[in-house]
Amino acid sequence: MAEVTCVRCGETREGLERPPYRDELGREIAEKVCAVCWSEARNMQVMVINENRLDLSDERAQEILEKATRDFLGLAGEE
Ligand SMILES: [Zn+2]
Repeated sequence: MAEVTCVRCGETREGLERPPYRDELGREIAEKVCAVCWSEARNMQVMVINENRLDLSDERAQEILEKATRDFLGLAGEE
C-alpha cells in the first residue's frame, strides 16, 4: 500500500487503498491523508451528520459535510 505524507498529522504513513469518494475530494483524500486521520474524519462526519440532522440526499447537506471534512483534514479546496 502506498504511503502518503499526511496534510493533517504530518506523518508519512499508510494511505487509503482507494479514494473514498468518486470526486475531487475523494482524490485529494487518497493523495494527501493517511488512513488513521481518515478514520478520525469518518467519526467526525457521523457527529456532524447527527448534530445537524443532515439528509445526504440533499445537495446542501453534502456541501456542509464536504466543508466540515475539508476543515477537519486541512484540505483547502479549489487550488
Ligand atoms: Zn494523518
